[in-house]
Amino acid sequence: MSKAFVSEDKCVGCSSCEGACPVEAIKVSNGKAMVDSGTCIECGSCVSTCPVGAISQ
Ligand code: SF4
Ligand code: SF4
Repeated sequence: MSKAFVSEDKCVGCSSCEGACPVEAIKVSNGKAMVDSGTCIECGSCVSTCPVGAISQ
Protein backbone atom coordinates (compact mmCIF):
# COMPACT_ATOMS: atom_id res chain seq x y z
CA MET A 1 0.00 0.00 0.00
CA SER A 2 0.96 3.63 -0.33
CA LYS A 3 -0.46 7.06 0.44
CA ALA A 4 -3.92 7.80 -0.88
CA PHE A 5 -4.08 9.90 -4.04
CA VAL A 6 -7.12 11.83 -5.28
CA SER A 7 -7.79 12.21 -8.97
CA GLU A 8 -9.24 15.73 -9.04
CA ASP A 9 -10.84 15.15 -12.42
CA LYS A 10 -13.02 12.41 -10.92
CA CYS A 11 -13.74 13.87 -7.46
CA VAL A 12 -17.26 15.27 -7.10
CA GLY A 13 -16.71 16.76 -3.63
CA CYS A 14 -19.20 14.53 -1.80
CA SER A 15 -17.09 14.43 1.42
CA SER A 16 -17.68 10.70 2.01
CA CYS A 17 -13.95 10.16 2.31
CA GLU A 18 -13.61 12.72 5.09
CA GLY A 19 -15.82 10.68 7.40
CA ALA A 20 -14.15 7.43 6.39
CA CYS A 21 -10.62 8.47 7.32
CA PRO A 22 -9.65 7.39 10.85
CA VAL A 23 -6.90 10.00 11.15
CA GLU A 24 -8.59 12.97 9.42
CA ALA A 25 -5.97 13.00 6.70
CA ILE A 26 -8.39 13.84 3.90
CA LYS A 27 -10.34 17.08 3.59
CA VAL A 28 -12.56 18.56 0.91
CA SER A 29 -11.64 22.11 -0.08
CA ASN A 30 -13.18 24.03 -2.98
CA GLY A 31 -15.10 20.92 -4.01
CA LYS A 32 -12.09 18.63 -4.24
CA ALA A 33 -10.63 16.19 -1.72
CA MET A 34 -7.00 16.57 -0.72
CA VAL A 35 -4.87 14.08 1.21
CA ASP A 36 -2.32 15.17 3.80
CA SER A 37 0.26 12.54 2.95
CA GLY A 38 2.14 13.18 6.17
CA THR A 39 -0.92 12.12 8.16
CA CYS A 40 -2.24 9.28 5.95
CA ILE A 41 -1.62 5.83 7.44
CA GLU A 42 -2.39 4.04 4.13
CA CYS A 43 -5.41 2.20 5.54
CA GLY A 44 -7.40 2.22 2.29
CA SER A 45 -10.70 3.23 3.92
CA CYS A 46 -11.20 6.27 1.69
CA VAL A 47 -10.41 4.28 -1.45
CA SER A 48 -13.25 1.83 -0.83
CA THR A 49 -15.64 4.57 0.32
CA CYS A 50 -15.39 6.93 -2.65
CA PRO A 51 -18.52 6.43 -4.82
CA VAL A 52 -16.81 7.51 -8.03
CA GLY A 53 -13.46 5.77 -7.67
CA ALA A 54 -11.52 9.02 -7.42
CA ILE A 55 -9.03 7.77 -4.83
CA SER A 56 -6.25 5.32 -5.50
CA GLN A 57 -3.19 4.07 -3.65
S1 SF4 B 1 -5.81 5.76 3.13
FE1 SF4 B 1 -6.75 5.79 5.18
S2 SF4 B 1 -5.48 7.21 6.36
FE2 SF4 B 1 -5.02 7.58 4.20
S3 SF4 B 1 -6.39 9.28 3.62
FE3 SF4 B 1 -7.43 7.33 3.11
S4 SF4 B 1 -8.71 6.86 4.89
FE4 SF4 B 1 -7.19 8.40 5.53
S1 SF4 C 1 -15.36 10.36 -1.58
FE1 SF4 C 1 -14.45 10.58 -3.63
S2 SF4 C 1 -15.81 12.00 -4.73
FE2 SF4 C 1 -16.29 12.17 -2.55
S3 SF4 C 1 -15.01 13.93 -1.85
FE3 SF4 C 1 -13.85 12.03 -1.47
S4 SF4 C 1 -12.56 11.76 -3.32
FE4 SF4 C 1 -14.17 13.23 -3.82
